[in-house]
Amino acid sequence: MQQHIPRHSRYGIVPPYILYSIANRGTRTQRQHALRALQVALSTHPTRQAAGRRRSIQRTQSPTPRRTIYDAHHSGRLPGKIVRKEGQAIGSDSATNEAYDGLGWSYRLYQQKFGRNSIDNQGQTLKATVHYSSDYNNAFWDERSKRVVFGDGDGDLFRRFTVAIEVIGHELTHGITAYEADLDYKGQSGALNESISDVFGSLIKQFSRGQTADQADWLIGEGLFTHKVQGVALRSLKAPGTAYNDPILGQDPQPATMDGYIEIEDDDGGVHTNSGIPNHAFYLVATALGGYAWEKAGHIWYKAMTDSAMGPQTTFKDFANLTLKQAERLQGDEGKEREAVQQAWEAVKVLPHKHTSNEESAAD
Ligand SMILES: [Zn+2]
Repeated sequence: MQQHIPRHSRYGIVPPYILYSIANRGTRTQRQHALRALQVALSTHPTRQAAGRRRSIQRTQSPTPRRTIYDAHHSGRLPGKIVRKEGQAIGSDSATNEAYDGLGWSYRLYQQKFGRNSIDNQGQTLKATVHYSSDYNNAFWDERSKRVVFGDGDGDLFRRFTVAIEVIGHELTHGITAYEADLDYKGQSGALNESISDVFGSLIKQFSRGQTADQADWLIGEGLFTHKVQGVALRSLKAPGTAYNDPILGQDPQPATMDGYIEIEDDDGGVHTNSGIPNHAFYLVATALGGYAWEKAGHIWYKAMTDSAMGPQTTFKDFANLTLKQAERLQGDEGKEREAVQQAWEAVKVLPHKHTSNEESAAD
């Protein structure tokens, strides 16, 4: 199998356009913090993937998580010192406890609902580093060391990044996507990569709260902003483009349909922007089918993202077709799944309108 070397090894939750906006419009200190957080958003260390995909259906041991949390003590060096290992009692540090719990919920959703045993499906240890750097306004997946890294935020615009469990789930999912699909972090395939992380990040939050699709907030990064920022989160799957509108951070630029698809060079070709389109498709499927989103919509998406047809250049349309294939396999008694998936991708204009409703009965 051909080896693919991704250009990116770090995947930040805060997109570069927000950090550029802060750097341009903020105070001197805000600018310094934004530039520090940008270093990750722009990091381009090449890494080498493990050769090919190793799909293991082995279940060697009882499937429980193995977590190790490290503390960088405000330095920019990884991994930091071990502060909590699997099974150790809760301590006094909130970031450590939130990272530990968030990795636990992430593990349990993937294991209990999709039968996946950790990142590599072979029980790999889940690693996180907290208190990375100082006044650090980002969290990221580090593909080289296979760990999630959290800043504390500067307390001025951003709070500590472990407060949002969907951020933990988002970053961990980058590890799974790199392992399974190897999507190029550029253009549509990159936006699909981002969207998969948002979708499963949100599902992990919903799972941890026992929420149905109707009850969920569908936000990514809820609670990260301080009261100074006019916004509720970094992104919204329910209503892309509405998460924030702030004099310093700028306005949420996400489109909900292909009509708003943007062709740009920045942000690796708009990976954090155009991800709004498949994000919204997932939201539409989940709410159309109702109940817990991970049961049907999440199942369809998981099967699609781990399909062997996924590759570096997978487009939105390719992915839409994979979800249709999986929806057909899942098809329940009423056959609603395929219809919901078809309609969602049509609604966001990734797939063309195929059919007019034949249920237009004589209305009175
Ligand atoms: Zn991401």
